[in-house]
Amino acid sequence: MILTIDLGALAANWRMCAAAAGKAECAAVVKADAYGIGIERAGPALAAAGCRTFFVARVDEGRRLRAVAPDAAIYVLDGFLADTAGTYREHDLRPVLNSPDQIATWKELPGSPSCAILVDTGMNRLGLTPREARELSASADAQDLGLRLVMSHLACADTPARPLNEQQLARFQEIRLAFPGLPASFANSAGIFLSPDYHFDMVRPGIALYGAAIAEDRPPLATVVTAEARILQIRAAKAGETVGYGAGETLKRASRIAVVAAGYADGYPRSAGSSDNRAGGRARVRGRSARILGRVSMDLTALDVTDIPEAAAGDFAELFGPNLPVDEAAAAAGTIAYELLTGLSRRAHRVYVNGPAPA
Ligand SMILES: *Cc1c(COP(=O)(O)O)cnc(C)c1O
Repeated sequence: MILTIDLGALAANWRMCAAAAGKAECAAVVKADAYGIGIERAGPALAAAGCRTFFVARVDEGRRLRAVAPDAAIYVLDGFLADTAGTYREHDLRPVLNSPDQIATWKELPGSPSCAILVDTGMNRLGLTPREARELSASADAQDLGLRLVMSHLACADTPARPLNEQQLARFQEIRLAFPGLPASFANSAGIFLSPDYHFDMVRPGIALYGAAIAEDRPPLATVVTAEARILQIRAAKAGETVGYGAGETLKRASRIAVVAAGYADGYPRSAGSSDNRAGGRARVRGRSARILGRVSMDLTALDVTDIPEAAAGDFAELFGPNLPVDEAAAAAGTIAYELLTGLSRRAHRVYVNGPAPA
């Protein structure tokens, strides 16, 4: 499988988010190898577009980003465990402290390097409770913490009608009052488009940068990732024959089958396969839609090109990209664009276009 990664489109999506965020600073979330596209190339492309603040999940992702983004502020969402102190210091990383324990451990460090705190306003994932946040703000040693940012995270920003969005907003507005003068950050990609009330001082888009749809009725984004696979062979099969492992799909007509060089070892999901009981995903061949036949195997996927007679060995089939949105490909595999993109494997060959040269 070949991934063409358009770093110019990545920069354009960041600028679109930055414009939508108005006066708020626009950061970039580049966790999980920049949602699968490659942090070493995404980081410099975003920095060149004007991004100054980045969020990663793991401390090791922070180390990799630091190597290519020497001037960036880099926050690590996992927070802080005492035995990673050396890595934080060496690479000038900022933990997003998630619990009173993490705060206590952080305070033990000499000097007070920069950090953020995350407050849970209704997601029940990581974060201080609102009460713990108020206690911290009242305690004398809040000043010694090197605190630069107070954050929270939305649970359902992609569904604007859910009342939890406004409940979380109200809680975050209140928490923020306890930390006067401290910059605040709340919105992920979808949160930016809920309303300006959600912007605060900094927004944190992830998925929107990579070109997946944010939510219904939101502005379109530039396509960043195009996944293609070459047709290795075209074969003819008769009605009643079966295709692939498990013989799970029986041909209803005499068919031409294109076997393409993409499989689950590339990160193309096995759940995109088809059977007699369930329609699977689709690909584009010569500008037309071709359905998957049978199971997706480790290295190969079969497509029905009976109605695309000009399809030939050597052609590229588009698995997702400008003509087949990544969200559609993900939905056909029973998943979401986040999982499809971050699951793209190391074997998938990445070709970068329209961006800065590698560092
Ligand atoms: C992943 C993540 C984001 C980015 O979310 P998207 O929906 O991809 O925009 C922002 N903030 C936090 C805390 C996250 O974990």
